[in-house]
Amino acid sequence: MGRLFQAGDRLSAICETCGDSVNARMKIQDYMPPEREVAVPDVLVLVCERCDAVVGIPPRSTPRINASRRVEDYASETIQARLPRVLEDTLDLVVATVAGPPKIVRSAILRHYLRLVAQSPVIADAVKLRSADPIANSKADGRLVVKIPPHRKAEVLEIARKAGIESEPQLLHGLALLIADDCQIELRPCHGGESAIRVFEKGAKAREKFIKELAMVIS
Ligand SMILES: [Zn+2]
Repeated sequence: MGRLFQAGDRLSAICETCGDSVNARMKIQDYMPPEREVAVPDVLVLVCERCDAVVGIPPRSTPRINASRRVEDYASETIQARLPRVLEDTLDLVVATVAGPPKIVRSAILRHYLRLVAQSPVIADAVKLRSADPIANSKADGRLVVKIPPHRKAEVLEIARKAGIESEPQLLHGLALLIADDCQIELRPCHGGESAIRVFEKGAKAREKFIKELAMVIS
């Protein structure tokens, strides 16, 4: 396996920026791999002591860098819809209850609910019933995009289709309304009848608990 480098280890290296053989030092820092959009946090890299450029990556850092690359590739699909602004505002309201970067919080909540749909036809039914609310069919002047891994998208869409959800907009409209219900945001009386209400209530506490826990993790 060769030597296991530690932060602070010194060695000589070729620095392309300096165009020279330089003294370099192992250092833990955020590292932006070439052709990537997101830096990998806290990774051990070899840094030029003259210009601070990264001049090498020790073997022990490669798994960490590769793992982060996989996470990025992973969420490469989207589920998206135009949706009524009132639903967008409702989601913002839920997101605001969780301290943290709104974009990240919103994605985390939506991905969690999509995972629930993939795991449970009961949730898919609730989303279907909720999507029938007239509010879901009002003027779509907002927009919602959720990035998810391809395999998850396939799972979600299959379960959703079996529940009678015919499109990504219908799925996201129903999901937004279900989230509103779970967080006791009252938009309008539910039109699904009593059986629908029972479906919504089932697990609502647990789903709301997730959002509260998320608040603790992210803040
Ligand atoms: Zn240099």
